[in-house]
Amino acid sequence: MIYTFKDYSDMSGMLITELDSIVELCKKSKHIYICDSGDKRKNLYRFVRDCVKIDVSKIIVLTLDNVSNIAKEENIGILIGFLDEQNREIISKLNESGFTDYLTLSEMAMRIIDYKLRVLQPEQFHFEVSLADHCNLSCQMCDHWSQLAKPHLLDVDNFERDIKRLSQLMDGKIGYICLLGGEPLLNNNILDFVKITRNYFPYGIHQIVTNGIRLLKFNKEQEKLFYNTIKENNFQLTVTLYPIKIDHNAIYEKAKEYGVEIYMASDIHANDQSHKESYKYSFDLSGTSPIHRSLLCFKFNYCRCLKNGRIYTCNTPSNIHIFNDYFGKSLSVSDEDYIDIFKVNSFQEIAEFCAKPSPFCRYCDIQAWGDMFPWKPSTKKIEEYV
Ligand code: SF4
Repeated sequence: MIYTFKDYSDMSGMLITELDSIVELCKKSKHIYICDSGDKRKNLYRFVRDCVKIDVSKIIVLTLDNVSNIAKEENIGILIGFLDEQNREIISKLNESGFTDYLTLSEMAMRIIDYKLRVLQPEQFHFEVSLADHCNLSCQMCDHWSQLAKPHLLDVDNFERDIKRLSQLMDGKIGYICLLGGEPLLNNNILDFVKITRNYFPYGIHQIVTNGIRLLKFNKEQEKLFYNTIKENNFQLTVTLYPIKIDHNAIYEKAKEYGVEIYMASDIHANDQSHKESYKYSFDLSGTSPIHRSLLCFKFNYCRCLKNGRIYTCNTPSNIHIFNDYFGKSLSVSDEDYIDIFKVNSFQEIAEFCAKPSPFCRYCDIQAWGDMFPWKPSTKKIEEYV
C-alpha cells in the first residue's frame, strides 16, 4: 500500500487527533496494555515504544489469559488494534468485568501504524543517493534545497565504498536504488555511479530521476555512451515534467530509440500527472513538534537516503545543512538521526532504524502540511519553508 500526498492531506487532521489521543492515554497511564494479534501487535507495541517513547517495562500485551486480572488494576490504558475475533473476545471480557475505558483504534490508524513502522526485508528496501546538491533549475519549495545549494558533487570512491558495504550487508538484494540530486546529470561521473550500482546490486530496479535538461545537450558521442550504458546496466530513466521550455517528446523518443525504459512524470508521487505542483513542507523552527505525527509524513521510512556512510530514514536531515547555511538557522542533526553502515553488524539493524521516527522529525510541522501550489521558480525566501 502506498499513500499519496492527497491521501495524507485528506485524512491527516483526523489521524493526527487520533494519534494524539493515543499518546495522551499512554502518557497518563501507569501501564499500557496492548491488545492486538500476530505481527500487527508488534507494530502497535513499536508505536508506543518508539513514537510515544514509553518505557518497555510499562507496556504489556493483553491476551485472553491475562484479561481477567486487569479489572483490579488502577490507572492503566488499554489500546485495542484491529477488531479480529480474538480482540472482540477480549473486549467482551473487558465489558463483562465492567471495564469500559479502553481506546479502540480506527482501521486507518492501524494501517498507517503497520505500514510506516514495518521492518523491511532487503528486497523491499530502497534508498536514494544525491549525486549533486545543486541543480540547473530553481524550483520553489524544493525539499532538497537544491536551489539554495552551493555546487557540490558526490565523489565516486565515496559512493563505491558505501554501496559495496551495503551490498555485503544485504547480500546484493534490494528493491531499488534511485540516483537523484539536485540534478544528477550535473555530475559528469554519472555513468560510473550507474555501473557501480548495478555491479553491487545486480537484481534491483534502479533509476535516475532527472529534469532532463542536460539530456538534450549531449553531442552524438555522449548520447551513445549515455544511453547505451543506461541500457546495458538495466537502469530506468524518470524525467520530471517541469513546465519549462524543453522538448519532452524529443527526450522520450531518444530514450526509446536506444531501448531505454523511460517514464515521464509531473511528479513521481502525485495522483494527477497532468501538471506539476509544489508541496510545502513547513518546518517548526522551534523543534517542538511531536515526533509521533511523522507517521503521517510521506517521506518517513520511504525516502530513505544514503550519504557518507550513513542511512537516514528520509532525506530531510541529510540535506538540512543547505537550509541552515542559506538561512542562518541551526536545525540540528544528532547521531540518532542516522545509522552508520560501517558500525552495524546486519541489515536488520538498518531496517529497524528506518522504521523509527528520527529525533529530527520534531522540526517538521506535519499539521501544517498538505498545501499544494502550481510550480514556479523559487523566491529563495524562507517563507517557502515556514
Ligand atoms: S524528518 Fe521526519 S517528519 Fe520530517 S520529513 Fe523526514 S520523516 Fe518526515
